Order: sequence, then C-alpha cells, then structure tokens
Amino acid sequence: MVEIKEVELKKDKSIFGQISEYNHEKVVFCHDQETGLKAIIGIHNTVLGPALGGTRMWSYASDAEALEDVLRLSRGMTYKAAISGLNLGGGKAVIIGDAKKDKNEALLRRFGRFVKNLNGAYITAEDVGMTTKDMEYIRMETEHVSGLPESMGGSGDPSPVTAYGTYMGMKAAAKKAYGSDSLEGKKISVQGVGHVGGYLVELLAKENAEIFITDIYEDRLREISTKYGAKTVTMDEIYDLDVDIYSPCALGGTINNDTINRLKCQVIAGCANNQLRDETVHGPALIERGIVYAPDFLINAGGLINVYSELQGYNRESAYAQTERIYGYTLDIFELAEKEGIYTQLAATKMAEQRIQSIGKVKSTF
Ligand code: NAD
Repeated sequence: MVEIKEVELKKDKSIFGQISEYNHEKVVFCHDQETGLKAIIGIHNTVLGPALGGTRMWSYASDAEALEDVLRLSRGMTYKAAISGLNLGGGKAVIIGDAKKDKNEALLRRFGRFVKNLNGAYITAEDVGMTTKDMEYIRMETEHVSGLPESMGGSGDPSPVTAYGTYMGMKAAAKKAYGSDSLEGKKISVQGVGHVGGYLVELLAKENAEIFITDIYEDRLREISTKYGAKTVTMDEIYDLDVDIYSPCALGGTINNDTINRLKCQVIAGCANNQLRDETVHGPALIERGIVYAPDFLINAGGLINVYSELQGYNRESAYAQTERIYGYTLDIFELAEKEGIYTQLAATKMAEQRIQSIGKVKSTF
C-alpha cells in the first residue's frame, strides 16, 4: 500500500539526506492512482507520544518542496508539544494538489486509510487547505483524527484557546520587561486580526490596553476596531509605531532585516508561526536591542493543547487550565536564556529537547 516514490533532489540532497538532517523516525509516501492521491506523512518523533499534527493541502511547485515542508512542519510539532508539557510527538502530513480543484471524498478517504494503517503513530487534524467537512471524510476511515467540530464530539475551533495562550505568554513577557504582568494602559499593536488576532484583541481590550490593529481585510479591521475600540493603522505603519508590545498574528518572517530596526517595542509576543526570518540572526539581534521575545511555538501552543485535550475526552475547562501554564513556561524560558546567555527561541528549543531526552530515558526500562 505504501509506495516510495522518486522525488527530485533539492540542493543535491538525497531523500534520506534530508530525513536524517531533520532526524525523522518515519516518512510515508502515499500514492493512489484511482483518486490521484499524492501525500507525504512525516513522523518526526514519538518519544513522548503519538505524533500529532495537521494535514495541509497545497499546490507545491515540486515533490521536493512538499517533502521539505512536511519535514520542517512535523519537526516543529515535536518541539511545540514537548515544550508545552504534552505527551505527544510531532507529525504533519501534506497532500499535494489544489485544495479547490483536486479534493474529493474518495481522495480524502483514501488518505484516511493511510493514516489508519499507521495504527495511531500519527494523529491528523485540520490545517491549511482543509475544512471541517474534509476531516469528517478522513474520520470515516480512521479514528486517528483530532480537532473535530463540536457537533461530532470534538473540540471545535482552536483559535480562542490559541489566543488565550498567546495572551498568557504576552503577560509573562510583560512581567519580564516591566516587572508587572498587567497590560492595563500598555500600547499594543496586533498585526492580523483574523481568527486568533480577533480573540486576542478581545482579551487585551478587557484589560484596558491601548490597542492598534492592522489587516489586509478592511471589513474585518473595521469590525474589530468598532467592537473593541482599537485604532487602525496601515500594514506598513505597524512597524514604526511607538508601542510597548508588538504582536505578530498574521504570517511568519515579519521580524527580519528590513523591520527589526524600525521596531520601538520592548516586547514581542504573538501567535504567528516562525516569526523570526532567520532565528540565528534575529534571535540575538532582539537581545541586543533589549527586546523581550516570547518564543512563538510556545505561546501559540493553545490550539495544540486544545486538540490534545480532545484525545482524552474533551473538556474545555481543562484545556484552558493547561493553556494557562504557558505563562509559567514562558518565564522559565526567560530564566534559562538569561542563565545560559542565549536567545529565547534557542532556550525554548533546548528545553523541549531536554524534556524529550529525559522522558526517553524514563521509558527505556519496563
Ligand atoms: P487567519 O487567516 O484567520 O488570520 C490571519 C489574518 O492576518 C487575516 O485576517 C489576514 O488578512 C491577516 N494578514 C495576512 N497578512 C497580513 C499582513 N501582511 N499584514 C496584516 N495582516 C495580514 O489565521 P489565524 O488562524 O488567526 O492564525 C494566525 C497565525 O497564527 C498564523 O500564522 C497561524 O499559523 C498561527 N497559528 C494559529 C493557530 C490557530 O489556532 N488558529 C494556532 C497556532 C498558530
């Protein structure tokens, strides 16, 4: 059933070269002629538990690009789960194709069969290009699906929980920068007021912060501005604002060579993934500028915590309680970073690796 395909080599790297660079346990190439399914499931690490991560459907320019994406994303899930204290490993899947044109019930159920055959080593969920309806089709073939709608007994939209975790991380970062975690009166800019950004603005408004927002979508911007009294700014202006806290909640890579010298904030804390364009350059550069950076994969883990809670019989209260711990974890990271003289993103990665290593030892005996 599992067919290994030849993929074009990228940067002169063989498939196993790439797999070993990311240090994956297992990579499964799924192919089905009838439905046109082409998918890759990446299981990065299962020391802490089953590898959980969403399935993304995307029109990749090449098979090699799809492979690199699934390897990068699944490794990220390992760290996110480990740092959040979850008993989960890291995994991710990509389906190669146009989500608007190539998706149908048979293709999704065929993909579900591949997930089923992994016997729970990989648990899938929704990601870019997938809908709740799609997850229902996958669920028809395998029970190893999480993040289902509430109508199916699932945990529903993870965005409010992600926003709550981001808020907790922001408060911890404020504590580090200002000695108090109160956000009252703080000037906070939120870049992107979509699912998570919208809920975050609600929490910030409740604490009487002075909020500045931007988004591509004018209607959404107006809606959030009116609802919570936030001031709107243009997409470029956001980098030059004289604010205390900058919260990237749109896309990744917004902290880069072009923007870093424009930022006037003392804290960066947002939900977007991969905010630092180049971690090794911009991580230390933020320290030089005296900016406290709350690691993205830690403070946006609320959504994963929510989905994890579903595996044990969903309980919203316990999902929120576990997400609240992000506050303490973020403070721990700041302490480790200071002690070792390293940037916070690296400290978070180190702490995640340490947990995997130490729990791996626990499990090594019967
Ligand atoms: P979303 O698509 O609902 O919202 C993103 C918003 O950002 C949109 O309104 C979009 O118009 C806006 N945007 C895009 N580019 C922009 C730009 N250059 N300037 C200003 N606004 C811009 O997505 P979301 O679910 O709210 O997720 C936001 C980010 O958080 C993403 O990076 C996502 O990967 C990450 N994240 C989300 C969750 C979750 O639970 N939804 C969990 C973890 C991480």
